[in-house]
Amino acid sequence: MGIPMSKMNKIFFTHLHGDHTSDLTHIYCFGPAEDRKSPLYLWGPKNSGLTWWDPLHLVSRGPYQDGLNAFCQNFREMNRWHTESFSFLPTSYSNYTIPKPEDWGLTKPLTPVGDDPPYDGFAIIPIELDWKLYGKDKGDDICYQNATTGVTIRHFPAIHCRMGSISYRLEYNGMSVVFSGDTKPNTHMLNHASGADVVIHEIVMPAAVWAEKNSGLHPGDDGWENAYNAALDVQNSSHTPQGAYGFLMSQITPKPRLMVATHFQAEDDTIQSALKSIRNHSPVGEVTFAADLMVINLSKTRILQRRAVVSNYAFYPPTPPGSLQPVNPPLYWKFKDSSQTAKIPDPIAQLDMGSDIPPIDPDTGKVNYNPNGY
Ligand SMILES: [Zn+2]
Ligand SMILES: [Zn+2]
Repeated sequence: MGIPMSKMNKIFFTHLHGDHTSDLTHIYCFGPAEDRKSPLYLWGPKNSGLTWWDPLHLVSRGPYQDGLNAFCQNFREMNRWHTESFSFLPTSYSNYTIPKPEDWGLTKPLTPVGDDPPYDGFAIIPIELDWKLYGKDKGDDICYQNATTGVTIRHFPAIHCRMGSISYRLEYNGMSVVFSGDTKPNTHMLNHASGADVVIHEIVMPAAVWAEKNSGLHPGDDGWENAYNAALDVQNSSHTPQGAYGFLMSQITPKPRLMVATHFQAEDDTIQSALKSIRNHSPVGEVTFAADLMVINLSKTRILQRRAVVSNYAFYPPTPPGSLQPVNPPLYWKFKDSSQTAKIPDPIAQLDMGSDIPPIDPDTGKVNYNPNGY
């Protein structure tokens, strides 16, 4: 979509399910090779704190390090081979100003996991959130507040699968957008969605349809009961059925200017049924279904919904004009020449070149292969 890597340096996780974190690998690994030669800041829930005694296997499960800090530490190490290999290119700007916690309304220091310098593009800085907090009026739900840009982001608990899921509300210039992440309908949502301009909330199709679509089975088939019950369990513990979505929206006062139903297989044969369920409870108000590449422009006077058209063969976007900045030498470097002043990238510092095809010998006109090449 032409969004430069430098514009994706703050990421807010609602929860740590794999389908909600998987794009991080690309954003993290390739940012520093593009124009994000500055740290990646990640917000997300802290440890669930759960323990469970399993009476069948007579073992206690947890408490695990299942929060954002542990996620970031392990994620950083998982990508060690990648980050070292790319560190023959510059990965940091020499004029980068490290933000102070108070710049973003935070109190704890902004410290990278691992040993990355706090100005480096491969540094990951986790900002763990207490998923229990919901004090809209007390202000203890603020996880980002930038006085320069006027953006405030709040978080509040969601009910999804396992403790430690949250939703967000973004406020800017007198407007606000709520993003549910995955959740069952809940009262915190009613509180925080009140007065929001746009509410982006998850929705799921009926459990029977979900089971049919996912398993290929139909009522009466072998295994149908299991497939249906599994879909029902997932729905009832973690998600918002169509009718419940409509009811929830009907309970938000004042009403959002736009309701967005998301996390949904918006197909020709699912939308109509979902819309009917929503309208049974929320007969008025604008509803839309999120689709890939959807763009919503929000202003005080209108909300514009569009769908981006992109190339399947797109390159990275060009570096935005005026944003070229001086860089530090890369981690893997060599002197440019014998004067030993300028440091330049050393792209072969991490390679065994023993089996490289050598240049043609000018005397023989042949290539002298090294039979003992690695
Ligand atoms: Zn989830
Ligand atoms: Zn999900």
